[in-house]
Amino acid sequence: TGALVLAGTPIGNLGDATDRLREALASADVIAAEDTRRTRKLAAGLDVPLRGRLVSHHEHNEAASAADLLAEVRAGRTVLVVSDAGMPTISDPGYRVAAAAAAEGLTVTALPGPSAVLTALAVSGLPSDRFVFEGFLPRKATQREARLAELADERRTMVFYEAPHRVAAMLQALAGAFGADRPAVVARELTKLHEEVLRGDLGSLHERAEADGVRGEIVVVVQGAPEAEPERPEDLVEEVEALVADGV
Ligand code: SAM
Repeated sequence: TGALVLAGTPIGNLGDATDRLREALASADVIAAEDTRRTRKLAAGLDVPLRGRLVSHHEHNEAASAADLLAEVRAGRTVLVVSDAGMPTISDPGYRVAAAAAAEGLTVTALPGPSAVLTALAVSGLPSDRFVFEGFLPRKATQREARLAELADERRTMVFYEAPHRVAAMLQALAGAFGADRPAVVARELTKLHEEVLRGDLGSLHERAEADGVRGEIVVVVQGAPEAEPERPEDLVEEVEALVADGV
């Protein structure tokens, strides 16, 4: 029977390709790639032959392509979905076809692999017991401000993706929304030769990004808002005493 298989690919270091990814690339009937050239290059780099039909599946053809891919799964074929890097569906194509396949009761499975969100969270040293993935913030200033306002009281660690040329502006916006002293980490070029993890607060990270510029791929991890001060029992006693004194 057919299956839709969502496979993670390396986010920079070919050594992170799993055995299951290699096998799937070599054996899938159809390989739906965000960028077919990138996937050919990956297969060549891994020294794996692509046996199946390579089709393009990206942001702009996702809906139409999803219908074709579902037809293949229904016909009993194995359809492998890969993006340029990391896990498909995570700020990448794949969600629509996965949702449609799931809604039809078709088999949806994954070959887990690297993803920048978990890699950055792990190296950040910021609380990882609870976190939210925010992906890319909206590009338009008004929408971005609205999104950040929604996150003002977020207690969980927040993980954001951003393109390098927008990082300085993004850190400035984050500092404006959460305060310059909020602990944060900029994780750059994860798993690659020039991997770098910058730790500090939003203010200092912003200054650094403005001064030095930021190259390569980056993830920004921001600590959640501090817990509100817990109520102290002695304050409650004082409040009650004041009410009693007022004759309430
Ligand atoms: N599907 C991918 C995943 O699972 O992480 C994410 C794809 S998204 C289009 C690309 C963004 O992921 C980049 O702009 C950057 O924020 C982040 N990213 C991907 N690879 C990275 C790396 N090696 N180091 C740091 N950030 C990375």
